[in-house]
Amino acid sequence: MRVDGVLRAAGVISSTDHLRYVNWLKARAGLALPRRAEPNRGAARLRLGQHDRRCRVSTSPTLYGEAVALRFHRAVDPAVEALEQPDALAPLGLRADQAAIVDLLLRQPNGILLVAGPAGSGRTTMLHCLARAVAGRGAAVFAVEEAVEAELPGIRQVKLEPELGLDIVNALRAANRQDPALLVLGVPPDEGAWPLVVEMANTGHYVMLPWQAQDAAAALLEATRAIGDPVLAAGTLVGATAQRLVRRPCPACAAERELTDLERDQVPAGHPLLQSPRTVESRGCEECGYSGTAGRYAIFETARVEGHVRRQMSGDSTGEALRLRLREAGVSSLRWEALLRVAAQQLTVTEALRATPADGAGTV
Ligand SMILES: [Zn+2]
Repeated sequence: MRVDGVLRAAGVISSTDHLRYVNWLKARAGLALPRRAEPNRGAARLRLGQHDRRCRVSTSPTLYGEAVALRFHRAVDPAVEALEQPDALAPLGLRADQAAIVDLLLRQPNGILLVAGPAGSGRTTMLHCLARAVAGRGAAVFAVEEAVEAELPGIRQVKLEPELGLDIVNALRAANRQDPALLVLGVPPDEGAWPLVVEMANTGHYVMLPWQAQDAAAALLEATRAIGDPVLAAGTLVGATAQRLVRRPCPACAAERELTDLERDQVPAGHPLLQSPRTVESRGCEECGYSGTAGRYAIFETARVEGHVRRQMSGDSTGEALRLRLREAGVSSLRWEALLRVAAQQLTVTEALRATPADGAGTV
């Protein structure tokens, strides 16, 4: 069982029971039982305690039989959750100045917004929150997804079925005919889909899509390459967010300590943490199952494409140069954001340094 990204053993089942469990789970997920030699995936609804929970089921052949992974989502009943959360962006826990930038980004009439981060950084949750915020203002929202993880009230969701001919290009064409104000893609466009995405973004539609990149600058530059024309890209991309999920230290066993010299060396010059270079540290206790952590939350980099940033992108920019422009425009890096959380005792310095790329260590 993986909780907040940490694996824990929940129990052991015999090899005879294993086959029964695998068959039962595959049947619930609508997967063909005899297909044991190839990986497979689907979705199922399972009753856990008081609630029906939707989960993603994926199977993979291994040396000793099929391995099954179940991925559960927090949203038990999104409709109820949405009613309880009048502010769609509240679950993200954005800092006030970042929330203001996201709000500006949400008010764009057209263009492309990139939601960047590595796999498992909560990009889908981010996209869903943004989509709900736009839908909440009465705009027509269309979502094209590989797997529908959560039903979103007020949003028309389309599940891609490439085997049935509903690939991303066809789904985009269908969405375009419906003329939505916002189109949310659950997967990055492939080469064939990019021209259509750019065309939609330049004809009165707003498009949001996930992008696998370490930070906003890398996402903007890689998307520029995918679009192929820097001037067109700089005029079409309106912004990029980047994010990481970090583990909250368990408050029950948290203690404070000074930063080591090695840790202090990794704090950028001028960072507020250097004024009082201390961190909390959670060693683990009964309350947190000796993990030292208590849930996760996301930290964000939120960047708008405007002014010097746009001019930089229109030229033949490097990642370093674009990063510099973003910092000049007041966009703080993920590392900077994480270390602010350390100063606020919401994060351990170990986790901050683990989860975020070093400033200036760009790969693009
Ligand atoms: Zn604890």
